[in-house]
Amino acid sequence: ERLISSAANHEDLSLEYSLRPKFLREYIGQEKVKDNLNVFIEAAKMRGETLDHVLLYGPPGLGKTTLAAIIANEMGVNLRTTAGPAIERPGDLAAILTSLEPGDVLFIDEIHRLPRAVEEVLYPAMEDYCLDIVIGKGPTARSVRIDLPPFTLVGATTRSGALSAPLRDRFGVLSRLEYYTTEQLAQIVQRTAHILSVEIEDDASFEIARRSRGTPRIANRLLRRVRDFAQVRGDGTITLPLAQEALELLQVDRLGLDHIDHKLLKNIIEKFRGGPVGLETIAATIGEEAQTIEDVYEPYLLQIGFLQRTPRGRIVTHLAYQHFGMEVSHRE
Ligand code: ADP
Repeated sequence: ERLISSAANHEDLSLEYSLRPKFLREYIGQEKVKDNLNVFIEAAKMRGETLDHVLLYGPPGLGKTTLAAIIANEMGVNLRTTAGPAIERPGDLAAILTSLEPGDVLFIDEIHRLPRAVEEVLYPAMEDYCLDIVIGKGPTARSVRIDLPPFTLVGATTRSGALSAPLRDRFGVLSRLEYYTTEQLAQIVQRTAHILSVEIEDDASFEIARRSRGTPRIANRLLRRVRDFAQVRGDGTITLPLAQEALELLQVDRLGLDHIDHKLLKNIIEKFRGGPVGLETIAATIGEEAQTIEDVYEPYLLQIGFLQRTPRGRIVTHLAYQHFGMEVSHRE
């Protein structure tokens, strides 16, 4: 398992609940998203109405689930959590929707993975708070309409483009989460350290932040690993040298790249003079699925400008050469 993966592992899931900020004012960063939500939440509360449906999109680990829980808290309603792949049949969704209380927040993670038949049940539910259920089969089949309590759907997806247009159009609020700055991640690391009762020096929290790939989930995970190290090797306090040594041993380099990132980039540099080279060719030479490279390995390398996508294939940029202390071998 990759230490710097942005997907949640078992340990993350068992701890994340206690690490989640509960209110908007405790949620660090994402200022635009927070400002917007704050206005919509206040307005809905003033009118005594249910909050409009909210779509949150952005890479894993940036705080979508956390925001859904915050929205429910701020509105003073219950949160129900589920995920696209977990709702297999229209009846599964109907069971959830009919059990909601007025005003509740229903959070559907990975909403782009809802089966089409389930998605169609969601349209009238979102628009008119009702379900159209077909009873019986063949010529005697008839449709019955069931009223639902008003509710707020909060959907999360990694790419808004993965959503069908009719579903996307039914959200009143669309918010895109951005990667966090080092400063913001350092604040998150300090906050988490405080909750875990770990002493950490400021420069050490920045060091962890710099290697966290813009992602709070990774920052919290690296902090926990460095904390183990501080307990065993040090006196429990996380200092800058200790954080650097621990992260070195964990093979997370100073920009948060690991051996898989190194392998991918060096492969393109050494075998293809830095590119351009097609995704399929890269996949074949490093023995990975093209889809995995595209979804999991590439996004951060593209984000920090180490890799570029061109019509003729992937190119490793001079920034990556510099990072490895290598001479540029292609003409960019
Ligand atoms: P996502 O649903 O986008 O995958 P999560 O909401 O599960 O991400 O966030 C992962 C972890 O990162 C949470 O446990 C939370 O502690 C932390 N986190 C995310 N965003 C923030 C934030 N803005 N401030 C503080 N902690 C955050």
